[in-house]
Amino acid sequence: MEKKPHLAKRDLPPREASAVLLVLLVLLLNALLYLYLSDLHGSSGRAETDPSLCPFGYFKLGSVKNCSPWLSCEAINKEVRKLKCVGEGAVKRVFLSEWKENKVVLSQLTNIELKEDFLHGLKMLKALQSRHVVRLLGYCEKQFTILTEYHPLGSLRGLNETLHIPKYKGMNTWHRRLMLAMDYVSVIRYLHSSPLGTLVMCDSNDLDKVLSQYLLTSDFHILVNDLDALPLVNKSSGRLVKCGHRELQGEFVAPEQRWPYGEDVPFDDDLMPPYDEKTDIWKIPDVSNFFLGHVEGSDIVRLHLFDIHAACKKKDPAKRPSAQEILDTYRKVLTLLIREVAMPGTREML
Ligand code: ADP
Ligand code: MG
Ligand code: MG
Repeated sequence: MEKKPHLAKRDLPPREASAVLLVLLVLLLNALLYLYLSDLHGSSGRAETDPSLCPFGYFKLGSVKNCSPWLSCEAINKEVRKLKCVGEGAVKRVFLSEWKENKVVLSQLTNIELKEDFLHGLKMLKALQSRHVVRLLGYCEKQFTILTEYHPLGSLRGLNETLHIPKYKGMNTWHRRLMLAMDYVSVIRYLHSSPLGTLVMCDSNDLDKVLSQYLLTSDFHILVNDLDALPLVNKSSGRLVKCGHRELQGEFVAPEQRWPYGEDVPFDDDLMPPYDEKTDIWKIPDVSNFFLGHVEGSDIVRLHLFDIHAACKKKDPAKRPSAQEILDTYRKVLTLLIREVAMPGTREML
């Protein structure tokens, strides 16, 4: 009996076969990239809430399943043991502490004159609990103390030192660094469209100051920690803000934050015009440049971010992009460059 030819035996010529293979590979890579990026940073439509978060007024730590209520004054006084000071800013002194075998942070007001800032920070911390904000574990208003989750890598000021320790050297790549910049812009995007409205990160008059307000988590994400100076903008009702009452100078702050009437007219806070959240956008290129650092590939990333960063530095605040637009551009650049690295030259071939 004659055998029928096997269907699968219809071989493609080698050139066609490799082209098909290439297209399949690119499709697979795109699908993986999409999953990877949307998992890491959330797509724009996704809720900002963290599935590991608890209802308002509750928290959970580590691998514990249940949510506990925020610790009260009594619980803090009875159950929290201060270990050592790990940070200090103008408003708070920050102590690494212990609570039921967990490392936690107890922040205490440094100076009673700053109590309004402290209480504003606490109010914001309560209202903005999300995947972008440090976790609140408890507070005691009458003793001016706040209890939060401890992050051993500390603030972003120590990022370069952290990336040089052997354990984290593998993270010192352009792509991890670009992902940190994306995380930072995601936090700004969250503040600009928060449940309370558009909030401006005012504690940001120089790069060091900005970096000290954010924490680096052990899995290399960024959380905002210091919410003491976060005024509300409402453009439709004409509500604008001023970051403090003193004169601001230098290139780091946005042009509209500087005294507009020249050196001959002495600074007067009453004559200083207010502004909006676009001051945060002006500062993004400088903060992102710090994230990108000087590793192999970071200059190529800088080149790709040139146009969006130039737009952030427009003198007219209204012409600057939104944090969402910046994030979209960063994401496109990350996707493009990962694809280039994985399959160099594929763009020309397709
Ligand atoms: P201030 O309001 O006085 O500026 P911050 O809240 O910014 O105080 O905290 C000061 C510093 O303390 C931070 O820059 C950081 O180095 C450290 N710190 C604060 N909270 C934590 C935390 N949860 N984990 C680790 N370090 C922290
Ligand atoms: Mg601070
Ligand atoms: Mg502060």
